[in-house]
Amino acid sequence: MMSSIFDIVLLNSILIAAIWFNMNTKNTLLRNLPKVDRVLDDIVHSQNSSVPLSLIKSAIREEIESFREHILSGDISELPSTSNEWNRLFENAIKRKNSLNLRRVINGTGIVIHTNLGRSLLGEASITALQTAGACFTNLEFDLSTGKRGSRYSLVEDIICDLTGAEAALVVNNNAAAVLLALNTLSYNRETIVSRGQLVEIGGSFRIPDVMSRSGARMIEVGATNRTHLFDYENSIHEETALLLKVHTSNFRVIGFTSEVPVPDMVSLGKKHNIPVMEDLGSGSLIDLSPWGLPKEPTVQEIVKDGVDVVTFSGDKLLGGPQAGIIVGKKDIISQIKKNPMNRALRIDKFTLASLETVLREYYNLDTALHSIPTLAMLTADPEKVKKKGQRILRRLGGGVKCKGTIALQATTSRVGGGAMPEYGLESWALVLTPGEKGANVLEKSFRNLDVPLILRIENEKMIVDLRTILEQDIPLLIDILGQFLQQRIEK
Ligand SMILES: *Cc1c(COP(=O)(O)O)cnc(C)c1O
Repeated sequence: MMSSIFDIVLLNSILIAAIWFNMNTKNTLLRNLPKVDRVLDDIVHSQNSSVPLSLIKSAIREEIESFREHILSGDISELPSTSNEWNRLFENAIKRKNSLNLRRVINGTGIVIHTNLGRSLLGEASITALQTAGACFTNLEFDLSTGKRGSRYSLVEDIICDLTGAEAALVVNNNAAAVLLALNTLSYNRETIVSRGQLVEIGGSFRIPDVMSRSGARMIEVGATNRTHLFDYENSIHEETALLLKVHTSNFRVIGFTSEVPVPDMVSLGKKHNIPVMEDLGSGSLIDLSPWGLPKEPTVQEIVKDGVDVVTFSGDKLLGGPQAGIIVGKKDIISQIKKNPMNRALRIDKFTLASLETVLREYYNLDTALHSIPTLAMLTADPEKVKKKGQRILRRLGGGVKCKGTIALQATTSRVGGGAMPEYGLESWALVLTPGEKGANVLEKSFRNLDVPLILRIENEKMIVDLRTILEQDIPLLIDILGQFLQQRIEK
C-alpha cells in the first residue's frame, strides 16, 4: 500500500514513455518517407518512355501510401535506408502497375475446369470468331434477310435446339442468371417445390434457397435430406404451385440410404397437375463421357427427352464454351422467359455469342469435338500421352535433374473441377518438385509471382505440376521455370 502511489507514478511514466517513444518512432518514420515530387525525376529518367507519367506518379504514390499504412499499423519499424533501395521498390511498383491485371497463368493444378483460373479454354475457331466480333461490325442484332432489326438470340438458338432436341432456347450471362430468370418468370410470388436433398450451394455464394428468394419464388421444401419420394411432391401441390424444380447435385453426393425421384416420374406428376418441371443441370454435358472412363452424367439431350419443360446449364463447364447460361425447353415457356424484362439485364454480349456459336458448331461432329474443344480434350486425354509430355520436358531439361532441386515424373490424380464429378479422379502424371531448404510454400509463392505465374498443388511438402492441364504452348515457359528451379535461381 505504501508504495502504491509511487508504483502507479512509475508505471504511468513508463507507459507514457513507451507511447511517446512509439509515437516518436512512428513520426520519425513518417517524416522520413520520400516525397513523390522528389523521387519522380530520378525515376522518370530510369523508365522506358512508353510508361505514362500519370501511371508512374500513381504507382509511386501508392507505394509510399502503403508504407504509411504499415507504419501507422505498427507493421514496420524501419525504412529502406538508401535511395537505391527505394528506387528499386518504386521501379517494381511501376512494373506491376504497368502490366495487365488479367494475365496468362500456367495451370499446373490438374483441375481441368478451374473456376479461379477461368474455367474452359476456347479453341482456335472461337478465338478467330472473337477477333472478328471485336474488330469488325457484325450482324449482332441485324437480320440480313429482311434488313430490319434482328434478335441476338437467334444466332445460336437453332443450333442449341439441333444439339439438345429442345423446342426453343435462350442464352444469358451465366447459369446462375439462367436459374434466377427462369424462377422469376415461372414462379414469381408463387410456389416452387424442391427436394431438401437438392438445396445445394455452388461456390461463390450461389445457393438455391437464396437465389429462389431473390427470384421472388416461394420455396416449398419437401422430403428429407437423404430421401424424397414422389408423394412428397404430390402432397405439397395446390393452387399456388407454379413449378416443380430439380437441382442436379453436381458438386456433392449423398450416399447410403438415399432416394431421389426419377425425372420421368416428376414429369408425369407435373403433367397430371399441369405444372411445369424445371431442372438446373449445372454442368450440362452434351456428350456422354463414360466411354472415355468418366462417370456417367445425364446429358442435356437425355433430360430434354425425359420431357422436362425447362433445363438450365452452364456454357463454360463440361460444355467447354464461354461463360454463359443456357436455357432450353418448351416453346411457350422459353417465350415467356424471353419476354421477362429481367432478361435484358442478364443478356449475353457479342463476344460470348461469337465464341459460343463456334463451340456449339463443334458438337455437330463428335469425333473432332473431343480434340477441338480444349476442355473435352483435356478431360479425355490418354494418361500415356500425359506421361509422354512429362518425359519430353524432362529430356529437354537434360541432366539438370541431378542439380540441387530434384524433379521426378510420378503418377497423380487430376480433377474435373467446376463442381462436376466431385469424387472422380482422372488418372494422370505430374512433375513432382522436391523443394530445397526454402520449403514448398516459399517456392509456391515465387512461382506465383513470375511474369507468367505457375500455379501448382502442394502435397506432402512437395510441389505437384500436373501435366494434364499443361498446354502445348506452356511447355517452353515451363521448361524455363523448371530450369531456374533446378538452379535454385528463383528469387523470392
Ligand atoms: C455451376 C452451377 C450453377 C452456376 O452456374 P454458373 O454458370 O457458374 O453461374 C448453378 N447450378 C448448378 C447445379 C451448378 O453446378
